[in-house]
Amino acid sequence: MSTTTASLPLDWTYAPAPEKADPNISERYDLFINGEFVPSSDAQYRRIIIPSRETFLCEVAEAGKPDIDRAVRAARSAYSKIWSKMPPRERGKYIFRIARLLQERAREMAVAESLNGGKPIRESRDTDIPLSVAHFFYYAGWADKLIYAFPGARARALGVCGQVIPWNFPLLMAAWKIAPALATGNTVVLKPAETTPVTALKLAEIIRDADLPPGVVNIVPGGRSTGQLLVEHPDVDKIAFTGSTAVGKWIMKALAGTRKKYTLELGGKAANIIFEDAAIDQAVEGIINAIFFNQGHVCCAGSRLLVQEGIADTVISKLKKRMETLILGDPLDKNTDVGAINSKEQLDKIERYLQVGQEEGAEMWQPTCPVPEKGFWCRPTLFTNVSQSHRITQEEIFGPVLSIQTFRTAEEAIEKANNTPYGLSGGVWTDKGAKIFKVTRQVKAGVMWANTFNKFDPSSPFGGYKESGMGREGGWHGLMPYVELESL
Ligand code: NAD
Repeated sequence: MSTTTASLPLDWTYAPAPEKADPNISERYDLFINGEFVPSSDAQYRRIIIPSRETFLCEVAEAGKPDIDRAVRAARSAYSKIWSKMPPRERGKYIFRIARLLQERAREMAVAESLNGGKPIRESRDTDIPLSVAHFFYYAGWADKLIYAFPGARARALGVCGQVIPWNFPLLMAAWKIAPALATGNTVVLKPAETTPVTALKLAEIIRDADLPPGVVNIVPGGRSTGQLLVEHPDVDKIAFTGSTAVGKWIMKALAGTRKKYTLELGGKAANIIFEDAAIDQAVEGIINAIFFNQGHVCCAGSRLLVQEGIADTVISKLKKRMETLILGDPLDKNTDVGAINSKEQLDKIERYLQVGQEEGAEMWQPTCPVPEKGFWCRPTLFTNVSQSHRITQEEIFGPVLSIQTFRTAEEAIEKANNTPYGLSGGVWTDKGAKIFKVTRQVKAGVMWANTFNKFDPSSPFGGYKESGMGREGGWHGLMPYVELESL
């Protein structure tokens, strides 16, 4: 018997392919302090929901002041009694162990990430989890080689690091923070985002199973006030923050005049620049990936498309055609391209921008894809007839919304690309190498991709200019913010 897809009716060519691995999520999670799970001092729990279904996922303890004090004390004691005295090679072994255990539980972690965050399983399976594992492996390798990272100097750990992360890449951001801190000999108190603590708490289980000495990593879920307590705690030596520019500015003010070091990884409004000589079909795929990956909840998302005038109509019509084929829906379906918006609050924010864009005179277009009745959803959206001063061009929306402008010359493209308060990332599409160098050198962004977008590797530094933050994570550069150098 032979069956070919060609003989099937059109709507049979797409069938749901749900991922069935068990995410192993407990009904309730406590705080992870000093190597064990402990209830919070005031027994407060936050309900965590599945954004694609608006149903209960689990409840998670909220850390208050006594809990942050307890976590920082545990981290301090682990630092001074154990971790700072341990030979670097031994520290490296623990980090390798975490990497391997995480890899073993990759499937389970991917499902948990998609359930909690709303992102398509294809992305958590192929990007979030493998990159998190790669970060632990990469920095495990550095632990006993710091002398080569900083020739002629001794790299001294800072002590206790307070780390605060956002909800868009929950496990990956935890890995970006914890791995370099441990490799350089620091101990950690990490606060996950309020809506997405699950994979960080599952990572806590892995850290416990890896027999990491108690107190070296502490994980304290909670909201804004928990983050503030950590930032302001007098016995923390360094703050590593990833999140919005507004909160980053508050942290800078809170830390001014203190001895604490800090790094800030903040928002972005990246320009994706397409020249007339680019491979257009490839560029269209690149535009889609740049803005609709993770529903646009990406700090470095290519949210501003700058397209050279002569090809603008062609690119826009190809883009619309491609957007019509995007599948929006169940994050656990392996065919899904666009998942759920992470929270009602974020959906409201995106919808406000859709309104603002239209009121400012831009033209909005969305594909006709069906939207599930329950859950938080936003169709992939593009705006044309957009000007440089529009709020949708200047402000970070953090959703699946693309604004499109045209340009005539490379100089004009560079000027427009640089004309926002941000400077995190950008892309350029052309078949001329010289043009790539000219543009990438002049766009003020921490990361520039050429003929691709959203490519990450633990060995590459990542970070911003201007209001996108300060300091670098990833690569050799990512060790620097966790050490003080003494000459030998
Ligand atoms: P957010 O700033 O609202 O929250 C980030 C984290 O900070 C959360 O854990 C939150 O609870 C905590 N927080 C909030 N107020 C605080 C305060 N006053 N003191 C201490 N902690 C506080 O950001 P978000 O909405 O969770 O995340 C989205 C933002 O993160 C976007 O702007 C995005 O661009 C940015 N981001 C940047 C990068 C990067 O590497 N540059 C990566 C991912 C996300």
